[in-house]
Amino acid sequence: MEEITTKYEEVIIELQSVNFIYNKGKDNAYQALYDINLKIKKNDFLIIFGPSGCGKSSLLNVISGLEYPDEGEVFVLDKKRSEMTKKDQVQFHRKTIGMIFQAYNLIPTLNVLDNVAIPQIFINKRKKEREARAMELLDKFGIKEYAERIPTELSGGQQQRIGIARTLINDQPIILADEPVGNLDSKSATNVMHILNRLNTEENKTIIMVSHNPENIIWGNHIIYMKDGRIEKEEFRDIKGDITEVNKMKQQDITDIEALLRNFQGLTKEQIRMMIAPMKAKILARAAIFDLEEDQHKKLEDGIRQRILNTINPKEFFDILDRPEERGGVELNARTAHKISEKVEEIIKIARISGDREKFSDDERASIVSKYISNQDGVSIQPDKFNNLRVLIKNRLNSEINRKEFSELLDKDKEDGGAGLNKQTAKKIAKHIDLILMISYGMT
Ligand code: ADP
Ligand code: MG
Repeated sequence: MEEITTKYEEVIIELQSVNFIYNKGKDNAYQALYDINLKIKKNDFLIIFGPSGCGKSSLLNVISGLEYPDEGEVFVLDKKRSEMTKKDQVQFHRKTIGMIFQAYNLIPTLNVLDNVAIPQIFINKRKKEREARAMELLDKFGIKEYAERIPTELSGGQQQRIGIARTLINDQPIILADEPVGNLDSKSATNVMHILNRLNTEENKTIIMVSHNPENIIWGNHIIYMKDGRIEKEEFRDIKGDITEVNKMKQQDITDIEALLRNFQGLTKEQIRMMIAPMKAKILARAAIFDLEEDQHKKLEDGIRQRILNTINPKEFFDILDRPEERGGVELNARTAHKISEKVEEIIKIARISGDREKFSDDERASIVSKYISNQDGVSIQPDKFNNLRVLIKNRLNSEINRKEFSELLDKDKEDGGAGLNKQTAKKIAKHIDLILMISYGMT
């Protein structure tokens, strides 16, 4: 009994079987949320992640009380929202929830200080008091010196910090943020994310943040992945750093790489995926090209990283390779740019297929990877040996043999269960497989 009570108290917002429809009953009715079940705990840093149009903002609005579910129930603290009076709801919202938006919603005719102080006018705080509190927050976020300026004189990152300061001034325990860094360059975005992180860890604020950018997942302890109005997958990490995964997540085999990554204690799989993207990019950049200037190499790696994470498409990746250096590109000649983009796209494709157990059977994955490998420079496989190679690759992709066993079996004789390849070829194949497994980690 004891335990159940404690656990229940920890949940501050709960959605049960929520359906939400825009323009219900009209010709243009549109169901934006399907059967949403979600428990948000005190001090969570929840990330609502998914592509544009999947229902993230709709979900946030249902959580905040701006929209009402058409079916299902929202509990705030332990009360059913549908049973709260209008007045209670307004009170709850005002006292409990602070909101941060992508467009900072600052008032252009007021100076920075007044923009931050404005929510306190509605709760009848005295001028002196609210200005002191606003100043304190501006100081905390490193924008005190701009207090007398008007918002448009400041950078995007600074304006978002004003937006956050304004949200915090009434000191609500729950902060809702809809794409708060969506408009910012990566440096300002990181700065703002650090602020949110500090609010979560040092001031125990519960943060509920919407993002379509996978690079922001790293900040959450509770992540939901949305698609077409539904929660597809949910991930948690607990205080000890153990990862529990629920909701339709398939149990995956532990690969060598995954075992290695256990060192990243306390991160979810998705967070690890983000963290190792630069490492993957480095390895792939090295495999794809030789002979580049330091600066060009950095830009190539950065482009590959974005491509691996699928935050840019093949065309955008090619443009980065092709574009002159002074415009942030790698400035390769057209032929080299084509060659590299083809190579990178191919290996990303193969890596994705190699781990996609849903779309491809074990045999299909093994065949595709084997064909890819036998077409690589310096690898030549006699037809009678191809099938043995394919079987070994299949076992390797399924983690039935480890890296060492795989390498040894490649050049062992057929009679001993090997592929009977020469040492040189065996070495090259082992390297290609390493690269594919590395790149594929966390892709599917
Ligand atoms: P996201 O924030 O993930 O981009 P939204 O929650 O804004 O997605 O929208 C989900 C779906 O609901 C989209 O298809 C969108 O077109 C639709 N939608 C959003 N707002 C409205 C509205 N006010 N009226 C009708 N449809 C809407
Ligand atoms: Mg949105």
